Amino acid sequence: MHPTDSHFIPGYQTRSLENAQGVVFLYHKQQIALLSSDPPRLLEVTLWEQLPMQPSDFFYFGEWQGQACFAAHLPHGVELEVEVEWHRVRALYSYQDLFWIAGRGHHLAHWHYTHKFCGRCGTPSQIVESELARKCPNCGLTVYPRISPAVIMSVVKGNQILLGKIVRPGIQIYSVLAGFVEPGESLEACVAREVHEETGLHVKNIRYFGSQPWPFPDQLMVGFTAEYAGGEIVLDDELEDAGWYTVDELSSVAIPPKPSIARALLDEFVAQNS
Ligand SMILES: [Zn+2]
Repeated sequence: MHPTDSHFIPGYQTRSLENAQGVVFLYHKQQIALLSSDPPRLLEVTLWEQLPMQPSDFFYFGEWQGQACFAAHLPHGVELEVEVEWHRVRALYSYQDLFWIAGRGHHLAHWHYTHKFCGRCGTPSQIVESELARKCPNCGLTVYPRISPAVIMSVVKGNQILLGKIVRPGIQIYSVLAGFVEPGESLEACVAREVHEETGLHVKNIRYFGSQPWPFPDQLMVGFTAEYAGGEIVLDDELEDAGWYTVDELSSVAIPPKPSIARALLDEFVAQNS
């Protein structure tokens, strides 16, 4: 569940990939370019000259297994001449270390790609040496990677857990509820608000469970457990279904895969009710 188990050493210095030894994490639409997928094989740095990009499009973000890790987001509308396979970053979750490292790279690549210009004066911004930041050479505005906090919570009533199915074509998974934190809101208040908005229910005994980066593109999921305190389920337009499930009934629906924190919350519920 936590990315700290890997042997990845984050890097903060700026470093050119010209003449470097290492690998390139190249992203496009939440996908990563691989030379082959089983096991996943990343692009060699030496391939960069065959990519339709400039050295300044790439950034260094750490060391893994003795290799320098560079990342970049493929500009929209650009065709690759190198033959690669595109895979959803999320689909790497069975490769634990690679999943979290590719996730960190994706978070940073998406941020650099969408923050190339100063938000105050419009001048192209530059990567800052030795910290995760971009700075405007004209007005000096410094910006840091955007991290979007979101709460995710199990709501338990006796031996049942509340699961909902979001309204999205192709998504069949039933999961615990989640939602983005609003400015000026505490995490606990967000838990109570999201549960009430999405289902009409009230909760109590909101307790911190754990957290997990979810870099698609930039969420930090903060997990909570809560108990049902009252109300009847009334769906809003975010959910097409919601209901109470016992441990035995969980097998009747598709639930989130590991290593998501949603699954960890469900596993915790199962452990406490089996
Ligand atoms: Zn500026």
